[in-house]
Amino acid sequence: MLVVKKFGGTSVGNAERIFNVARRCAKEYQAGNDVVMVLSAMGKQTDVLIDMAHEINPNPPKRELDMLLTTGEQTSVALMAMAFATMGIPSISLNAFQVAMHTTSVYGNARLKRIDTERIQHELEGRKIVIVTGFQGVNKYEDFTTLGRGGSDTTAVALAAALHADKCEIYTDVDGVYTADPRIVKKARKMEEITYNEMLDLATLGAGVLHNRSVELAKKYNVPLVVRSSLNESEGTTIKEVVKVEGMLVSGVAADKNATRISVVGLEDRPGVAFKLFNMIAKAHINVDMILQSIGRDGSKDISFTVPEDMADECYKLLEDNLEVLKAKKVDMRKNVAKVSVVGAGMMSTPGVAAKMFECLYNADININMISTSEIRVTVLIDEKDTERAMNAAHEAFGLED
Ligand code: ADP
Ligand code: ASP
Ligand code: MG
Repeated sequence: MLVVKKFGGTSVGNAERIFNVARRCAKEYQAGNDVVMVLSAMGKQTDVLIDMAHEINPNPPKRELDMLLTTGEQTSVALMAMAFATMGIPSISLNAFQVAMHTTSVYGNARLKRIDTERIQHELEGRKIVIVTGFQGVNKYEDFTTLGRGGSDTTAVALAAALHADKCEIYTDVDGVYTADPRIVKKARKMEEITYNEMLDLATLGAGVLHNRSVELAKKYNVPLVVRSSLNESEGTTIKEVVKVEGMLVSGVAADKNATRISVVGLEDRPGVAFKLFNMIAKAHINVDMILQSIGRDGSKDISFTVPEDMADECYKLLEDNLEVLKAKKVDMRKNVAKVSVVGAGMMSTPGVAAKMFECLYNADININMISTSEIRVTVLIDEKDTERAMNAAHEAFGLED
């Protein structure tokens, strides 16, 4: 059996934890299985590196930032291989170049395109544990890229798919996927199973326990995915196509504070205006999420939308610089907003979910700025300061407690 095991920052945060992880993987190896490990940078090392970069240059060149960040994962894999060496277990660490893992060329937000499996397969045939750097790739210019924050999960799933692994286990600092972030909602409950679609929405809407691209890939290539703790033996949560327990109206609540609302005011009310605006934003590789257009009045309309916070300044400047091209009056930006969402496959067939969400926010005296819905989710944009209260209110209203 071939197993891909991914360990996040906390799980490899210090020497003791590195040995803990090494022992766990050694057991799997000694049972006769092939083991590929994917590691994140130790503890908060990625944040430390980002701070270091900003100390030198508040706006560091993106290529150089990726060059810097990839050292975090490289440190972890080398130390892990050293730990195995002390235990007399054959292992080898590999970075994105050595594997190689090919990505698109966008620094800081690259997508995996293709993984060469020959080197890994060769090392596995030599009965080595293969330890691969998460989060990083190589682009067509032969430069390092990174996959976006939390991207090691995606490396693990992509490797599992490329190697046709029998399972992919994501080890982290919680026991599995909960109905809400257990750090924010104390009464959150661990789920035994969840569908790819629900997990994809939860991850996209802010449940940081999995990188959303990893869920997308797991669904696409049907990779059996498990989220579990690196600190205990608890069973964890399985993410798959169909789950046994159907019929939960709402399976989880997620929040994303990394949102900024941008409003373009006084646009002309005629065909092609939205296209021009969003085409301009897309060309700058800025991701747009919720979109709201006001009803046109006196030949003029407003369009509001949300973008990730780290792209907000760039987006604002782009639109400011192009006010004349867009024939708009002004651009507004609000950073202290958050998205709170309820997600559940059961919503599809049940009316009244949105109303219930709005009612519980009303009861908590929380104002709604924007709303968006799909078949299996309701998302509201609210003031950031209300996030925790809104999550707890929704969690209770939909009866998700333990
Ligand atoms: P790692 O470094 O292992 O990748 P992360 O910090 O990226 O760990 O992800 C684990 C964290 O995700 C947990 O500590 C938890 O606070 C947070 N989290 C957010 N939403 C959820 C959820 N629905 N279920 C479990 N954990 C969640
Ligand atoms: N080390 C990277 C980060 O902190 C990738 C990851 O942890 O998945 O974002
Ligand atoms: Mg993570």
